[in-house]
Amino acid sequence: MDIQALLDGIVAELAGRRGEGKVADYIPQLAKVDPNQFGIAVTTVDGEVYAAGDAAVPFSIQSISKVFMLTLALGKVGEALWRRVGREPSGTAFNSIVQLEHEHGIPRNPFINAGAIVICDLVLAGYKPKEAIGEFLRFVRSLADDDTITIDRAVAQSETATGYRNYALANFMRSFNNLQHDVDHVLGVYFHQCALAMTCRQLSRAGLFLAARGADPIGGYSVVSEKRARRINALMLTCGHYDGSGDFAFHVGLPGKSGVGGGIMAIAPGKASIAVWSPGLNKVGNSALGTVALEMLASRTGWSIFGA
Ligand code: GLN
Repeated sequence: MDIQALLDGIVAELAGRRGEGKVADYIPQLAKVDPNQFGIAVTTVDGEVYAAGDAAVPFSIQSISKVFMLTLALGKVGEALWRRVGREPSGTAFNSIVQLEHEHGIPRNPFINAGAIVICDLVLAGYKPKEAIGEFLRFVRSLADDDTITIDRAVAQSETATGYRNYALANFMRSFNNLQHDVDHVLGVYFHQCALAMTCRQLSRAGLFLAARGADPIGGYSVVSEKRARRINALMLTCGHYDGSGDFAFHVGLPGKSGVGGGIMAIAPGKASIAVWSPGLNKVGNSALGTVALEMLASRTGWSIFGA
């Protein structure tokens, strides 16, 4: 299979559709991003990297970071994490508050905002916010094998200034005793985690352990157990695209995690880790063109987990 030709073909076929969807504007700094960009990268389990389009342009990975923070938190607190966060798809928007009241401040899953905020609270135990952010950044850099990856401070500040909904979620959970640290500290970690800037190349490399049974096949070391990698993939499939998760499974058929920066990381278990980026979002806040590109790639490679 000529993966490079497949990626070049997708970039060429989608050239006329660049700019589709609507760039997230509730985070002012994200509203400034040029909507006509489109990048795609694939890192295979045998260590080959293929890329096309704007695959070397850093973008705000936003909620894709939730996969890496969950992985870090599971390493720290293990299965006890699941006393504080559920594992069910929410069927509601990424920033929804409605289920929290009935479910006593326990978020449905670690990928909606409320769940990711609880994960930050767990990672903060025994640390100052700066230390927790530093540990997170080092972890992602090691996964991507790239020390040039940074956090975009302007994006973090932009969201700190306007993240009213996330403050509401955090305060609400605190009232149920499902946050143990100061709300500002927890959100400080959360906003900086979301503001991580990565390219498609870096992102596809960082996700490789999830395609390779928890091990990094290039570095030759274990990141998480095989069982844990399988479970993270299961959560990405069922919850990674919020109330668009069913549709993403229907069209693409891969575990995936989206972010409002327009990126998607998708995992073809046993085959490859894929990253796409196009800033325009569909109605539920997932990359419009990114989803189309992944559907094309999955159907042309036969990589859907549901069969070729
Ligand atoms: N930082 C964003 C927020 O909290 C992340 C949302 C997303 O990427 N879906 O609103």
